[in-house]
Parts: sequence; structure tokens; C-alpha cells
Amino acid sequence: MQDTAIEKVVTKTNLMNFCQKDLQAYFASIDEKPFRAKQVFKWIHQKGITSFDDMSDLSKALRQKLMDVAEVVAPKVVLDKPSNDGTHKWLIDVGGNLVETVYIPEGSRGTLCVSSQVGCTLNCSFCSTGKQGFNRNLTVAEIIGQVWTAVRALSKQQGEHDRHVTNVVMMGMGEPLMNFDAVVSAMDIMMDDLAYGLSKRRVTLSTSGVVPRIYDLLEQSDVSLAVSLHAPNDALRNELVPINKKYNIDELMAACKLYAQRGPHKEITFEYTLMEHVNDELEHAKELVTLLKSKQVPAKINLIPFNPYPGTPYKKPSNNRTHRFQQYLMEAGFVATIRKTRGDDIDAACGQLAGKVQDKTKRQARYQRSLSEA
Ligand code: SAH
Ligand code: SF4
Repeated sequence: MQDTAIEKVVTKTNLMNFCQKDLQAYFASIDEKPFRAKQVFKWIHQKGITSFDDMSDLSKALRQKLMDVAEVVAPKVVLDKPSNDGTHKWLIDVGGNLVETVYIPEGSRGTLCVSSQVGCTLNCSFCSTGKQGFNRNLTVAEIIGQVWTAVRALSKQQGEHDRHVTNVVMMGMGEPLMNFDAVVSAMDIMMDDLAYGLSKRRVTLSTSGVVPRIYDLLEQSDVSLAVSLHAPNDALRNELVPINKKYNIDELMAACKLYAQRGPHKEITFEYTLMEHVNDELEHAKELVTLLKSKQVPAKINLIPFNPYPGTPYKKPSNNRTHRFQQYLMEAGFVATIRKTRGDDIDAACGQLAGKVQDKTKRQARYQRSLSEA
């Protein structure tokens, strides 16, 4: 009988999946001291090093040990698309699915818009990500890997303007609170002084209103919160943001109020995508003012003129209508900003992120069918 060599397949642990605390726990599990974890954490996130061989302050023995059991792998960039206005979009391969990351420079600020899921389960009526269906949650490595990738890519672009990531918004593809643990760990890394060192005011999570997870976030993180409201009453919000049927505006506002009470400068940003003749009438502005005042949530409002994509029935309102809506809110005493559309030429604007989702929900097929029948 012939001997068959049984090759043991060793699955290596990707250290990019760990926040500092988890990396220390991992190092303890392989009998290494916490300060070694700190060193490796800095190499990965501050210096962008993925090869243990290049981590020069580790002993040769430790480097070899790590090489045997671990690896540092960032997700693969398949397309790197700069826009005429300085915006930058990366298409990132996460095991056959593609997600998008967008960098938006504005003066001295550079905001990175990060994805949290491949697609989204929540199916808001106006959102192109929702139409793509859903495949899976991203891992910590795939979420923080977007920051890692952008920071590295921008540092290589030496030019007229130095580009840095000064802010991160979890506003790319997906609903971050539906991927709670991975998103919280990734945000911890963003705010860690041994990694990206962003202050909690510069890391913003945007949610469509997964109320129980807002309470969890309050316990576990300290990031800024943006809430996608889009409608001033339940009837309209049920239509636009279906999760409202599960957690209505009253429940959402109660969670927001508590979140805002954590300390000074903790107001909630309410995002309101303006869709012509759907939610952009003065009546809606009036109702919005009454709602926010009655709930006493410290609030600022970010108006996002709808960004169209093929097949959507919604329309972007005229500039006049948009400014009229803003004016009403400001006269009522609210800070209300209009989000500028950036990266239009590379489909990088809010709600245009589509990536490539191997859909497990049949929603994508249904949507495609409805387009071809229309
Ligand atoms: N799932 C999260 C974060 C991702 S969406 C959320 O819903 O908050 C980021 C923002 O873009 C949300 O406010 C979302 O409602 C908005 N958006 C989605 N599609 C849009 C579109 N086509 N035009 C303008 N804004 C859109
Ligand atoms: Fe998901 Fe946000 Fe799009 Fe709604 S708006 S479908 S929650 S990504």
C-alpha cells in the first residue's frame, strides 16, 4: 500500500481582524506578552506593514512563530478611481463580492466613507445598495482594511495637496448596526492612538434606525451618531425606510435622546434625503420642526439631495426646493446643511454605491425584472 502524505492545512489567523484588546488576548493565547501585541498593532496600522519579517523590533524567533500561525491581510483593491474633484473611490474585493470605499477631501478635512456589509438587508425604497440585495457582513479586517487601504494609497500620492483621512463615516454600503460587533471593533481601531488615533467626534456611524442596537452602542462605544430619518411621520417613513415598521419614530427618538445625553457636543445628525414631491414640501419641513422640537433631541440636520441611479422612480429636487426646505429649518432655529454632491463622475455620491453583491435574498433579481418589465 502506498503511503499517502496527509498535509495539514493550517488556517492562519488574520491579525487585521483584531482591535488592540483582542490582539492582546490572541497574543496571550500563544504565550506572548501584551506589549508584543502593541508593537505588532502599531506596525500594522501606523506603519502599514503586513510582513512579520519587516517588524524589526520583534525577535527573529517571534517573527518566525507569527509567520507559522498568523498573517496580516487587507482586502484586495480591484479598482482605484480618482474623480475630477479630488474624490476617490476604491472598489474592494471581499471574496468575490465587491464593496466600495470613498474618500472626499474638503479643505483641510478628508472624510472616508466606509462600507459595513455586502449589500443591505433593509431595503429602503430609494437606496441602490438596498436594491442589490445582501450577501454577508464584512469582517473587522474588511472594514478596517478600507481605512488601512485608503491611508496607504493617499500617502503615496504626493502632490500639490496632501491628502489625509481626518474623519470616517460609516455611510458606505450596508447598515452598520446590523453588523454590530465587527463595526464596533473596527471603530475602536480607528480611534486607537496606536492605530489611526481619530477622535470620537470624527468617527460617525450612520443608521437607518435599528433601535435596540443604538442602546447597545451607547454601552460599548462613544462615536458620533447620524440617523437617517428622511420623513417626519410614520406613514411616510414606513414607505421609505421599512425598518420604521419595526421601530417607529417615537422609539427611535427616545433612543436618540438618550444617546445625545452622554455629554456636551453630542447632538444627533439627522440625515434627510430630499426626494422631489415625496418628502420635500414645506409641510414636511414644518412637521419635521415640530417633531424635533417636541422630542427635545439636540439635533442638526443634514439634507441630502437625492442622487439618482438607473431605474429609480425618485427625483432630485431643484436647488430652489432644496434651499426653501433648508431655509425653513434654519428659521426655526436648526443647523441645517446641504450635503454637496461629490464624485459625481465616478458614481461615488451618497446612495450610488453599488459594488457587486452575490445576492442571497432574490431582491436583486426581482429589481432587475421590474426594470425590464417597466
Ligand atoms: N445604512 C446606513 C448607512 C448607509 S447609507 C443608513 O441608512 O444610514 C448613507 C446615507 O445615504 C443614508 O442617509 C441613506 O439614506 C442615504 N442615501 C441612500 N441612498 C441615497 C440616494 N440615492 N441619494 C441620496 N442619499 C441616499
Ligand atoms: Fe441599507 Fe442604509 Fe440603504 Fe437603507 S439606506 S437600504 S439601511 S444602506
